[in-house]
Parts: sequence; structure tokens; C-alpha cells
Amino acid sequence: MENCIFCKIVSKRLPAFITYESNDVIAFLDINPINPGHTLVCTKEHFDVLTKVPEKLAQGLMTAVKDVSAKLIIKLGYQGFNILQNNDKCAGQIVPHIHFHVIPRNPDDLVRFNWSENIKRMSEEQFKETYRRLTT
Ligand code: 5GP
Ligand code: ZN
Repeated sequence: MENCIFCKIVSKRLPAFITYESNDVIAFLDINPINPGHTLVCTKEHFDVLTKVPEKLAQGLMTAVKDVSAKLIIKLGYQGFNILQNNDKCAGQIVPHIHFHVIPRNPDDLVRFNWSENIKRMSEEQFKETYRRLTT
């Protein structure tokens, strides 16, 4: 993809701090980190969202996410991490080239995702209907 920022990083036309590279996956430091070491893990081939990634490649992608996460703990001394993966503009995706955010975390890092503010109340009927549609 000619105008894709991450395709440019993959082909080394744009510089990045690349911390992991395999035949089909690459990881590099996010330019606007939530914590130092915040890493983006993406496929070398351009796909916009996760559901378009072929099965085998999705497996390699997850292996890379795991490897990158372990290094943030072992080498940078973090205690934990969040995995975030946005699909589509409506979900906050800015760069339309599939990537996982690996966000390293420590107990008092003051990062808040405010999960509880977004919770929707659902009735038993709504749960049943949702379940029915997903499983039939
Ligand atoms: P999204 O919202 O699409 O999941 O997140 C895209 C991420 O890419 C953002 O966190 C942003 O900081 C990062 N980003 C955007 N442009 C560049 C760039 O040129 N280089 C690097 N290393 N990261 C970028
Ligand atoms: Zn791309």
C-alpha cells in the first residue's frame, strides 16, 4: 500500500525502532507511547483489520505479540502489560494496517482505560437474544 505509514516502516522507507522481525511480522516502538516500550506488532503484508488476516499468519502474529510482551517484562522490568487491537475507525483505529498494541504496565503508572464508564446494562432477554444470534 503506497501511502500506508506501516507499509513504509515494513519496507524501511520510514525509520522506526524495530524490536522484532520475522519473515512476515514486524514490531516497532510506538511513536507516542503510553509507557516507554509501548510496541506495535503488525503483519508485513497490508491488511486493514484482524478478520482479513489469514489463519496461519494470525498465529505468527500472536507468537510475536507474546514474544514482545515477554521481552518488555524481562528486559525493561515491567510487571504487566495490556494488549489492545483496534479495528475500524469506529473502534479508534487510526492507522488502517492491522497491528496489536503491547502496552507495558507497572502498578503506579497512572494509566487508566476507564472500562467501567463504558459498561452497558443488558436485560436477561437481551443476553438471550444476543447469544441466540451468535450461536445459530
Ligand atoms: P491505532 O489507533 O491505529 O490503533 O494506533 C496507531 C498507533 O500508531 C498510534 O499509537 C500512533 O502513535 C502510532 N503511530 C502513528 N504513526 C507512527 C509512525 O510513523 N511511527 C510509529 N512508530 N508509530 C506511529
Ligand atoms: Zn500498510
